[in-house]
Formats: sequence, C-alpha cells, structure tokens
Amino acid sequence: MRFSGFGILKQGLTGNKGWTAHWRNPKCKEAYDIVIIGGGGHGLATAYYLAKNHGLKNIAVLEKGHLGGGNIGRNTTIVRANYMMPGNSEFYSHSLKLWEGMEQDLNFNTMHSQRGQVALFHSDAQRDAAVRRANAIINQGDDAELLSPKQLRKMLPYLNYDSPRFPIYGGVIQRRAGTARHDAVAWGYARGADSRGVDLIQNCEVTGIDIQNGQVKGVQTNQGAILAKKVAIVVAGRSSLVAGMAGIRLPIESHVLQAFVTEGLKACVDKVISFGMGHFYISQSDKGGLVFGGNLDYYSSYASRGNLPMKEHVMEAAMALMPMIGKAKVLRSWGGIMDMTPDGSPIIDKTDIYGLYLNCGWCYGGFKAVPGSGYSFAHLIATDNHHEPAAGFRLDRFRTGYGLMDEEGTGAQHNLH
Ligand SMILES: Cc1cc2nc3c(=O)[nH]c(=O)nc-3n(C[C@H](O)[C@H](O)[C@H](O)COP(=O)(O)OP(=O)(O)OC[C@H]3O[C@@H](n4cnc5c(N)ncnc54)[C@H](O)[C@@H]3O)c2cc1C
Repeated sequence: MRFSGFGILKQGLTGNKGWTAHWRNPKCKEAYDIVIIGGGGHGLATAYYLAKNHGLKNIAVLEKGHLGGGNIGRNTTIVRANYMMPGNSEFYSHSLKLWEGMEQDLNFNTMHSQRGQVALFHSDAQRDAAVRRANAIINQGDDAELLSPKQLRKMLPYLNYDSPRFPIYGGVIQRRAGTARHDAVAWGYARGADSRGVDLIQNCEVTGIDIQNGQVKGVQTNQGAILAKKVAIVVAGRSSLVAGMAGIRLPIESHVLQAFVTEGLKACVDKVISFGMGHFYISQSDKGGLVFGGNLDYYSSYASRGNLPMKEHVMEAAMALMPMIGKAKVLRSWGGIMDMTPDGSPIIDKTDIYGLYLNCGWCYGGFKAVPGSGYSFAHLIATDNHHEPAAGFRLDRFRTGYGLMDEEGTGAQHNLH
C-alpha cells in the first residue's frame, strides 16, 4: 500500500475501509541467509537497507517484544549532526542527509521537523569550545551559526538570561537539526523492509548463538533454533548480554536514561534547546507536551525505569533555565537502557567469529543515527567491507587505544559521556 494525498482523500470518502496492515506477521522459517537480532530502529533500518541497497531478501529480524518497544520508542527524538571528532562528524553528516530524504524514501510520514537546535553556552571558555565545534561542523559541510544574547532573547524570550550562576553568553544554532516522531521511524523502516520480503518476527527472544569452528551457524530462540549464514547483533542496551551468548565481552556499560513529558500546552517552544550547564534539553511535541530530559542515572542497570535523584536534578536544571516551566504539570516519565561505550562513540564492526556482526554503543545519541547506522551496517554485512562514513567505529580501538573518539573529552568513563 502506497500513501499519497489522493489515497487519503479516497479513504476518507469511502469510510476508511481500505487501509491494510503495515507489515505481515510471518511464521519463522528454519533458515535464513541473515538473522538480525533486535527490532529497534537500528535493526529495522539495517534490514531495510540490506534489502533495498543490496537486493538481499532472505532475512529475518527477531524481536523479543514488539517492534519499536525498546529505545526507539522511548527517546526524546532529537536529530542533529553537530559532532566534532573525525570519524563521528562524517557519519552523522551522512545520517542527517538520509533523514532529509527519509519520508520520500520510505513513503511514510515520520513527522521529521527541521525546527533547529540551539546549544547554549554560559562562559567565555564554553564560547571558545562552541565556536571550535561550530567551525568543525561547517568544515564537514553541515550548518552552524553563532547567536548573540540579543538574537537569543528575540528567538527564545522565556529563558532566564541573567541568572547569576548560569548567565547565557550566547548559543550555536543548527537549523537543519530538529525532531521526528520516534516510533513512526521504526514503523516506516519495518514497513519498507517487510514490503521487500524481510520477515519481521515479534515475541522471538534469542537465547543462544550457535557457533562451530569459529563460524556462526544460527541462533536459539524461544520459538526454536534458526539456521543463519550471518547473524547481526543490534540490541542496544542488551548488547553485553547478547554478545555474551557468543562468548564476547564488550566494553559497554548499560545505564538508564530518563525522559519527561508535560501535559499538552499551546505552542511555545519552537526549537530544540540544550542547556550547556545543567545537562538539560527540551523541545515541544506536535501534541503540545514539553518533552525534556537530562543526564544518565549514574549506576549500571537493566531496569527501564529511573531513580528519583535524577528526576530532581533534571527538574532543577529546567527551573534554572526556563522558570516558566514550573507552571506545567509533568504527565509522565520513563527510562530506556543505554549502551554506553568508554569513549562515547559507537561500534559497527565484524567480530572474530566469522559471520557474526555487531552494532551497538550508541549511548544516548542513537536515534539520529538510525538511518546512517542501518545504511553502513547493511553495507558491512552485505560486502564484508566497512562503509566509509562509519569506518572508524571499530571494536578493537578499546583494546589498542588507536582511533578512540572521545567527543565529550571526559575520558574513559562510560557514564560521563
Ligand atoms: C530517554 C531517552 C532519550 C533519548 N533521546 C535521544 C535523542 O534525543 N536523540 C538521539 O539521537 N538518541 C536519543 N536516545 C538514544 C536512542 O533512543 C538509542 O540510542 C537508540 O534508539 C538505540 O538503538 P535501537 O533503536 O536499535 O534500540 P532499541 O529500540 O532498544 O532496539 C533494540 C531491540 O533489541 C531487542 N532485544 C534485546 N535483546 C534481545 C534478544 N535477546 N532477542 C531479541 N531481541 C532482543 C529489544 O527488545 C529492542 O527492541 C534516547 C534514549 C532514551 C532512553
């Protein structure tokens, strides 16, 4: 089923009876050429690009819950390409370009909105760092623009500019950055992969990985054994657990990241705003809720709910930056499990086991990476060669120390990135 303005009009006039399911609910086969473990954004995008770019069809995506029930449906939906380090910047630049063509490519409304993201700074030193980053972004071919406090006051009049502790010295805006509807991205890629013949198997938990003589042979699941020539692990916060099934110890810690949404309000925050001091960021959803978040819960956990001290910390930062938010009622909060690497940058690589591939370590920035990651990972699985924009995301950098990409400059501490 293709979506079009004419189709919507026709459905509206004929009682909306002609809509069909977005994807099939196929029975799992005994064998596939490629099995992808994890039906989140990255797994589904990988399946889509394997089928679309490489003409491969005999593929299954195995998801232990429902498609889009993991972090892809829990994030705060910010899409940007404002990375500085070589290795990261070309990858996110490529990913943003794919975002810009995504709705046409998938024939699906992902509500991608390039409303702009403003990153604020609050001291001379922060301004120097922000300008350096902005120059690196421009050199990469993406956009970044320095804003004075005067320009900011006009653009975002409700911020607290004169706080004695965190006065706003200015900001950098990336106008091509913005938001998208997170679960629509999962649905769009699922629909695209399914229509190209990929089997999407839900409620199928992988419980073991079969390996013989250093070569992957398939997986064990709660629906039985499945043979596969190639297996791809794309399970975000559960990466260490699933890689452990193949005897691989990953340099990843899993931490909870929380987010919050208020009751629906009239449109008031028309940009994505990042508070450079308080680790707080905010945007407004199309339904009107103010969607915001802050830092990680500092301890490792596989529980997708967060602790109270971090809630208090985020609310404090919110009040410091935009006191008007104190009048809004928080409707709900939730958490997702983040796969944090020691340098804060991801992993897209082969493993030492022939036919076993790994995609993880997206920390709390993997939503914007979904199209780029799927594109590059599909290239790696199909051709056994690294895709150039993602060529730096090697697993062995944590063993050799060569090629580390510490974007935040925080050193080898997972929960600080
Ligand atoms: C609160 C919050 C806010 C965030 N905000 C942003 C943001 O603004 N911008 C941004 O770029 N990123 C953001 N992120 C990060 C982003 O959501 C993640 O990096 C990204 O979604 C992870 O990749 P994924 O979509 O493939 O993960 P997931 O959707 O988690 O997919 C992994 C899937 O693997 C499945 N799985 C696990 N184990 C097994 C198994 N044994 N067998 C079968 N299936 C299994 C899981 O059920 C899950 O569905 C945020 C995350 C959170 C939690």
